[in-house]
Amino acid sequence: MKNIILTGDRPTGKLHIGHYVGSLKNRVKLQNEGNYEKMYIMIADAQALTDNSGNPQKVRDNIITVMLDYLSIGLDPEKVTFFIQSEVRALPEITAYYMNLVTLPRLLRNPTVKSEITMRGYDSESKGIPVGFANYPISQAADITAFDANIIPVGDDQLPMIEQAREIVRSFNGTYNKEVLIMPEPKLPDNEACLRLPGLDGNAKMSKSLNNCIYLSDDSKTVKEKVFSMYTDPNHIKVEDPGKVEGNMVFTYLDAFSSDEDFKKYYPEFNNLDELKKAYSNGGIGDMRIKKFLYEVIEELLTPIREKRKEYINKIPYIVEALEKGTKEANEKADEVLDRIKDALGIRYFNKEFIEEQTKRFNEEN
Ligand code: ATP
Ligand code: MG
Repeated sequence: MKNIILTGDRPTGKLHIGHYVGSLKNRVKLQNEGNYEKMYIMIADAQALTDNSGNPQKVRDNIITVMLDYLSIGLDPEKVTFFIQSEVRALPEITAYYMNLVTLPRLLRNPTVKSEITMRGYDSESKGIPVGFANYPISQAADITAFDANIIPVGDDQLPMIEQAREIVRSFNGTYNKEVLIMPEPKLPDNEACLRLPGLDGNAKMSKSLNNCIYLSDDSKTVKEKVFSMYTDPNHIKVEDPGKVEGNMVFTYLDAFSSDEDFKKYYPEFNNLDELKKAYSNGGIGDMRIKKFLYEVIEELLTPIREKRKEYINKIPYIVEALEKGTKEANEKADEVLDRIKDALGIRYFNKEFIEEQTKRFNEEN
């Protein structure tokens, strides 16, 4: 079987370096390796509305913002099918059928959903959980299976979603006794530090909803300010003091971003991060020095991204065209899978087979 890759992002803000290491980097790699039949990237506007229903303009504005981030990192509409979730009509219909296969307690047990409910204050008495929000993992299962996707490049906060999708596939194929749906597999980053990049504020996750991010579109000055105000080791006061590496955000980010080449270029006193960590732990390395290095490492990543963004910023018509073309293709594929789903459920009535089957049934009864 040839691979079908699918991922997406919610158009809730600019993409950040956590998205980059968690999922975007893998997407570019997969795109360029070319070992796939089809690669889809979905802008999940309908999902974004589940917790932004009061602010649809935010979702609308971030469609192009997210597309610009995609194009700037080298995702290519010639190779990737970009599409808009809400414009694929089969998706809510597929979602509706899957909703019958999942219980309410199962939905609310999802650890990512649980923490998002707390983060958004939906667990307070005055607010409550929007039904659409609680349901989004099911709708995400529809997004994945509607394209026969088997590889899903994601960060680890998405693992419970993929697990939910896998349960639905198992249940659907089991109940209707057909190999209708394809089983999806998550594709996580190889580097453990990239699974879930923490926020600049030390929060467990860099997240566009928390505004604790270095954005792919930040300029050098902004990146510098953000890096130099990062949390290190509060007991590392004098340069000679031994420093703590664990829990030191600068090292967490270096784990995720720095390479041996970066050391050659910007910090030749050390061959690699292990050596630097050892030296820092022994004392003698100042926080300013490691922050300067981190800044250079991040700039090395962001400089070509900024250059590429300039190419696309004046090409909004081209971007919308690419989305429209991709969405058309996505509709064709999802309609095909919806047909398979309806066939498996037997919810097809306007045909000879149904008439004959029911005629026979009533004849036998009489
Ligand atoms: P929101 O707060 O609106 O949910 P988000 O920042 O969580 O936004 P998503 O659009 O939900 O971003 O996630 C897009 C992809 O990026 C997912 O595959 C997710 O796993 C990955 N991702 C998001 N944040 C991080 C992070 N801090 N580290 C690694 N991967 C991440
Ligand atoms: Mg998210």
